[in-house]
Amino acid sequence: MSSSSPYSYDLIVIGAGPGGYVCAFRAAQLGLKVALVDKRPTLGGTCLNVGCIPSKALLHSSEHFAWAKHHATEHGIKLGSVDLDLPSFLRRKDDVVAKLVAGVAQLAKARKVTVVTGAASFVAADRVAVRAADGGEQVLTAKNVVVATGSAPVELPFLKFDGKNIVSSDHAIAFDSVPKKLVVVGGGAIGLELGSVWSRLGSDVTVVEFLPKIVASYDDDIARNFTRILQKQGLKIETGAKVTGLALAKPGETKSAGATLLAERDGQTLSFPADKILVAVGRRPFTDGLGLEQAGVALDEKRRIKVDSHLRTSAPGVWAIGDVVAGPMLAHKAEEDGVAVAEWIAGKAGHVNWDLVPAIVYTSPEVASVGLGEEAAKAAGRAVNVGRFNFAANGRAIAAGAVDGYVKIIADAKTDRLLGAQILGHNAGELISEVVAHMEYGGSAEDLARTIHGHPTMSEAVKEAALAVSKSALHAI
Ligand code: FAD
Repeated sequence: MSSSSPYSYDLIVIGAGPGGYVCAFRAAQLGLKVALVDKRPTLGGTCLNVGCIPSKALLHSSEHFAWAKHHATEHGIKLGSVDLDLPSFLRRKDDVVAKLVAGVAQLAKARKVTVVTGAASFVAADRVAVRAADGGEQVLTAKNVVVATGSAPVELPFLKFDGKNIVSSDHAIAFDSVPKKLVVVGGGAIGLELGSVWSRLGSDVTVVEFLPKIVASYDDDIARNFTRILQKQGLKIETGAKVTGLALAKPGETKSAGATLLAERDGQTLSFPADKILVAVGRRPFTDGLGLEQAGVALDEKRRIKVDSHLRTSAPGVWAIGDVVAGPMLAHKAEEDGVAVAEWIAGKAGHVNWDLVPAIVYTSPEVASVGLGEEAAKAAGRAVNVGRFNFAANGRAIAAGAVDGYVKIIADAKTDRLLGAQILGHNAGELISEVVAHMEYGGSAEDLARTIHGHPTMSEAVKEAALAVSKSALHAI
């Protein structure tokens, strides 16, 4: 920034989640003077503080617990009694979060990004007031402002969060005891992941989903097989059930009958007693208190910040990225938005391929997808060839005791170009990456099939599924 600039910064980023902090870091790398504002005392946003990272820490620990309880003996390992120490279990998650948010703060310092703690609101498109928790206020100015304020859990009007009986994911990553009965409203990634955590720790978990299947964006066969696997693990899954209300425990009833969730299916009333109800029906873009009208920033019909193909809002110099704009509400998508905007602001050629954002549910096994599923491709009128390969025929999967699931590769019937993939299986979230990379370069199923994969690895199932597109799988009939 030249010394004659009327601005205090080149760029102000509001929100230090994966979208905002990555945008700030990339802009600093490109030589811009950057202020990164967040009302949270720690950086990392939803993802690091209450989202991706704590949920994955809990998933890993609970998976170890479930493995020790149910699978150690299959490997000839005798453990004796396996007990849960919930405070230590939660402390490990907190330590993981603390380590990561401190790491982001260290990087911000090393990159000379100025971190400002406080709630930001627009005074004008190029002026942002930041109010600290102690009431102190400062005004920052910049030619460019990036809004990266993320999202918040959706609250149902008849199931308002009280943090006790009716909770959001923010509470469900930190229950101080294992709920006897946990009802999860919503069969998407967050509900299934946190439902799995508490089920593994001994909760009686019921997932209530309005749609006819869980993980609604996946092909029916994947959703059906996934449902069966989760049910075998003890989760109860009620699909096609519309939640209608709540009957709170009457005075005198025990705490374990804390609340009863009511739902309706085919004209019948269903009731699910619970001591905790986790509402995980999605997240809403968060722009509360931002003063967008002062800057002239318009919202779309779903109250997301309206942006063009370069993530520019309706106000000159104001950009928006991540969960607060249209698109999948995922950390890696927010990050890519952030990098591209920083590059556009610095006059470089930023680029995001929004058609290739992988999505992952980190249950056991995981489910992962990219591009079009078989059903979506057919619905779009595409003629497709689909290759499928079961992990039950993969050597590494058998050795690891991870035979559940399969890989599905969807390719254009005429050109063989890869259109998408869906994977149900151990580490599906890692396996999907190579399909993303092949698709990024416009690869075909044959390209993927002719790529050499290490042996024995579960990734060989991806290669075999790609071979299966042309009915050439080697380890299946
Ligand atoms: P956020 O991370 O939401 O950050 C926004 C920041 O803006 C917040 O820190 C907030 O304090 C700040 N802010 C808001 N308003 C103001 C203001 N006026 N002034 C100052 N600061 C403000 N995604 C994945 O990709 N993988 C996963 O495994 C995954 N798991 C998840 C698990 C859970 C339980 C949850 C809740 C979410 C999960 N997500 C996951 C989603 C992921 O967390 C979000 O997509 C991601 O955090 C969005 O990043 P963002 O930068 O847009 O916003």
